[in-house]
Amino acid sequence: MNNMTFSQELDRLRQDNLLRFIKDRGEGYNLVRISIEGNEHINFSSNDYLGLATNRLLMSAAKKAMERYGSGSGASRLLSGGTELHKELENELAKFKGTESALIFNSGYTANVSAIPSIAREGDVIFSDELNHASIIDGCKLSRAKKIVYRHRDVEHLSELIKKEKGNKKIVITDSVFSMDGDIAPLRKIYELCHYLNSKLQPPNSILLYIDDAHGTGVLGGGAGVLKHFNINPEPWTIQMGTFSKALGSYGGFIAATEDIIGWLINTARGFIYSTALPACVTAASAAALHLLQKDNSLLEKLSQNRDRLFNDIKNLGFDTLQSETPIIPIVVGNTEQTLKFSDALRNKRIYAPAIRPPTTKVPRIRITVTAAHDEEDINRLLDALSFAK
Ligand SMILES: *Cc1c(COP(=O)(O)O)cnc(C)c1O
Repeated sequence: MNNMTFSQELDRLRQDNLLRFIKDRGEGYNLVRISIEGNEHINFSSNDYLGLATNRLLMSAAKKAMERYGSGSGASRLLSGGTELHKELENELAKFKGTESALIFNSGYTANVSAIPSIAREGDVIFSDELNHASIIDGCKLSRAKKIVYRHRDVEHLSELIKKEKGNKKIVITDSVFSMDGDIAPLRKIYELCHYLNSKLQPPNSILLYIDDAHGTGVLGGGAGVLKHFNINPEPWTIQMGTFSKALGSYGGFIAATEDIIGWLINTARGFIYSTALPACVTAASAAALHLLQKDNSLLEKLSQNRDRLFNDIKNLGFDTLQSETPIIPIVVGNTEQTLKFSDALRNKRIYAPAIRPPTTKVPRIRITVTAAHDEEDINRLLDALSFAK
């Protein structure tokens, strides 16, 4: 930051169209029709893919738990912060993800910046997709392991890079669904590569596969996530990270893995050890989401219908949507200034779909997320606004 003051730095961001603002919603339970600066907008920017963040069942589970356990948890899990609801949620989650065990973290961000440094240490080598989420990048930095970045979704490149690194413990880390592009990691191929290499290696020089399933959980594989999507069974060397904060409509992160890996995290993951546990009301809402998802697939069906319809119509309008194959649909409309203008034009039509700019992504874009809670009219209004803004 050489000799510039904070106010000069902020001025420079403003000049480059890169200054960010917080836009808080007004009152209203629904995350589709939201009030921003006093005006109702149709929201196409939430990750609440199934509309569960305002679901009555989740809310009443949370209320009931709050009555019974209070609003705060008072301490970390290793002291007295956990409740029987925390343990129940972890058991349910392990079943849901097909693993021996699971551990709750206070957010997905915390899970990545805590679990990655526990699993990968100095002397280990991490192979990371170039578009991995910021929390993975931060987790890698904290780990002091050597990090090698492979080209986005390029398994050939990954394989070449792995072969050059001999004799160390290796960890491959990838998002399942890339949060700004909406494309899916080629996990069948990555899994097969790791499987093959593990068959030749002896621990501790084996390969771990760490999957950030933040946008896959509740969306892919009938809700169970990306491994189910590719019909892959979890292995002792796969680690599934995820969040309750997106499709599951609640809050908090998690890791699902073997009992040994979870035991190791309980003993070494700093964001788990040194942070107050999530309140029980939050874990109760997460558990209600898991129950609902396993009982009823109508929300997933609605999500997939909405996504297909919107995606086809956006394509028909001639927009560049990169490699999107999920409810995350990027629309590339030009440089940062053009993207901001486009987003403003949508705002004028009361459509809320913000511009995503550097440094979040190299290529500026409008990022649209469609959910099961949008109805046909919401989607029609978005399409009208898109063809008008074009
Ligand atoms: C959102 C996200 C996270 C962080 O999860 P939170 O629960 O919101 O902290 C981590 N990884 C990816 C890929 C994400 O999209």
